[in-house]
Amino acid sequence: MTGPLPAAPAAHVERVLCVLAHPDDVDFGSAGTVATWTAAGTEVTYCIVTDGDAGGFDETPRDRMGPLRQAEQRAAAKEVGVEDVRFLGYPDGRLELTLDLRRDISRVIRQVRPQRVLTSSPERFWERIGASHPDHMTVGESTLRAVYPDARNPFAFPELLAEGLEAWTVPEVWLGASPRADHVVDVTDVVDRKFAALRSHVTQVSHQPEGQLEEFVGDWMRQTAQRFGLPEGRMAEAFHVVHTA
Ligand SMILES: [Zn+2]
Repeated sequence: MTGPLPAAPAAHVERVLCVLAHPDDVDFGSAGTVATWTAAGTEVTYCIVTDGDAGGFDETPRDRMGPLRQAEQRAAAKEVGVEDVRFLGYPDGRLELTLDLRRDISRVIRQVRPQRVLTSSPERFWERIGASHPDHMTVGESTLRAVYPDARNPFAFPELLAEGLEAWTVPEVWLGASPRADHVVDVTDVVDRKFAALRSHVTQVSHQPEGQLEEFVGDWMRQTAQRFGLPEGRMAEAFHVVHTA
């Protein structure tokens, strides 16, 4: 086991695809990192597997929750410079590791042709059980299976070739909420954009008193920064970076 790595900035890439289970997942764990990428000119696409129709705390009728949460995710994306948001429409809370899901993620990978994919860790984070929602782990594992081998193998899911989608090799995957995070991104300078993105998820966060979300998420990012040896008061997001070329 190696110690924490220095916070060497990752190489600039043209396109990043973020694949997450629910609206707001990308914002809690990674919106600061996304903001640093879009600020540097990287085009970022979100692929959200469910509409989050099992989330929320209010009396919103369940059939209205999906469309509401899609709109919230689009607004949150805009706060960090992301315009391209795609939803796969799977039911929230009932994701399974299926070939259909692998194919649907492979399709988006071949459409977007990203040099980097960000997704959830397929490994359970024993220290923070809330990070390891079964949908998160299922999306992480499905996305890794789509990255290798499905998206790059022209003979996997031949229907995708028939749709005109050529095979594509993703060289790098970033896993959020990983028990083996080895790469840290200092997001202190863009943290207001991350908080604005989080605040866009009104159905999820409006029950919290003013400032509590910022305090809670801020503390968590300060602890991450400290764990990776960044200076006092900095805030960071951490990932397990996997080379997949
Ligand atoms: Zn989630």
